[in-house]
Amino acid sequence: MPKHIFVTGGVVSSLGKGLTSGAVGTLLESRGLRVSIQKMDPYINVDPGTMSPFQHGEVYVTTDGAETDLDLGHYERFTNARISRESNYTTGRIYLNVIQKERRGEYLGKTVQVVPHITNEIKDAIRRAASSDVDIAITEIGGTVGDIESLPFLEAIRQMGWELGRDNVCYLHLTLIPFLRASGEMKTKPTQHSVGKLREIGIQPDFLLCRTEQHIGEEERSKIGLFCNVPPSHVIEEKDVDTSIYELPIVLAEQGLDELVVQHLKVQSGKRDISSWEKIVAILKDPQRTVEIAVVGKYLEVHDSYKSMWESLTHGGIANSAKVRLRKVNAQEVEKSGPEKLLAGAHGLLVPGGFGERGVEGKIAAIRYAREKQLPFFGLCLGMQCATIEYARTICGIKQANSAEFAPGGPDSVICLMDSQKHVVDKGGTMRLGSYPCHVSKGSRAWQAYGAEVVHERHRHRFEFNNSYKDSLEKAGFRISGTSPDGKLVEIIELEDHPWFVATQFHPEYQSKPTAAHPLFRAFVKAALDHAEKSK
Ligand code: GLN
Repeated sequence: MPKHIFVTGGVVSSLGKGLTSGAVGTLLESRGLRVSIQKMDPYINVDPGTMSPFQHGEVYVTTDGAETDLDLGHYERFTNARISRESNYTTGRIYLNVIQKERRGEYLGKTVQVVPHITNEIKDAIRRAASSDVDIAITEIGGTVGDIESLPFLEAIRQMGWELGRDNVCYLHLTLIPFLRASGEMKTKPTQHSVGKLREIGIQPDFLLCRTEQHIGEEERSKIGLFCNVPPSHVIEEKDVDTSIYELPIVLAEQGLDELVVQHLKVQSGKRDISSWEKIVAILKDPQRTVEIAVVGKYLEVHDSYKSMWESLTHGGIANSAKVRLRKVNAQEVEKSGPEKLLAGAHGLLVPGGFGERGVEGKIAAIRYAREKQLPFFGLCLGMQCATIEYARTICGIKQANSAEFAPGGPDSVICLMDSQKHVVDKGGTMRLGSYPCHVSKGSRAWQAYGAEVVHERHRHRFEFNNSYKDSLEKAGFRISGTSPDGKLVEIIELEDHPWFVATQFHPEYQSKPTAAHPLFRAFVKAALDHAEKSK
């Protein structure tokens, strides 16, 4: 039977519960324990797939094709936990399940209520994620204690503590200790209130993880412990990290959090070994080289919108002992002032995924610049589609080449709607989603990077390369270097007479880790470093 860790948050949102849950997972795995991680999101959408990136940040796609919260990306980057559609539930999905059961008559005439029916559905979802092959199941409860909408989740985890016994459940509460500059003081009152709220619900936290800008002294630690009913040694400081989020496991390890948690849960474990994380942080603190990558996109104001892509660039840097400096370039700015000024001096161009027409011409212009100037280029999903349009227009002379997404019914849809999408009406969960195999052509740049002929990558798209244009594009030097096993779906394209020009229909950024950079990100950053060297 797995033991459970429940992670809640208080005072304000955006404290980094996802990162903290991931880092706790890192530490437990480093002691030889097997973990699962799951997130409960209290909003009503069935999943975040239909939400705008401005609202919710990146939609993270799991191997089995679920559109989930971006915190699951942190879980996969920080741990080896098996992440699937069982790893993310929303209030909407819980209610949908309950209502469908009610319609099927499964409640045998009973009145269906929040307690016990919704809470039972939540507990079932938690138990399913905590399969018998894991030692510790971590469940993060999204939102902030005190929100109306998180109440059923908190009630469910309260019940689990009662049912499983306090040795089998550990409540970890993430909170904020603000520092008031005017009085030069740390304030513990908001934490006292949020723990008070939690205790009202019937949950006594076992550990308090305190987000803070300043070091928490012994006096404050004792005070927090006293008011919140936890031993001062269980008041853990989570100071803002200077260099990278990948320092977090180290910060928590220094205070022995993992040791205290395994003691609380009475689990046997090995000695912690986080040397691989220490190496990563050492590289990030003292990189040998620096390289600048321009990213031309449209959701750049919200850093979270391309979360996995930013992280993957960092990983590509780590694999090359380099720091990746990011230059965020708004695609619409490229439309206004041209790529020359905005991209000058960059060592590589990345065009990420996206939806809708806005900014597309700017992306195409930027890609043309990279192709003509021999600047390393990496395209992801929409980035690959834009690269195809650019090549068709400029090199093959198909002047009106476009995507059916932006010019429906146009004369030359080199990117067209996938056959499997033609009858799709519902928006949620209906794209081509999840992991599919891809055959990589021997000798191609992609093959050189992967060192393999068959790879598995995750997808999230409705449009694809139109095979009617395959011959004319290939004759003009466009190389299709990766396809679905039946050869029908184009998955990777590249150019030969260019130092590094590779674009994928899939999203490699969902599979990159700080400890194991995705091969294409590693190769792209390497190409950018070579370009930087040459242009010195
Ligand atoms: N909008 C494009 C499509 O649906 C690209 C999607 C993406 O970049 N994720 O095919």
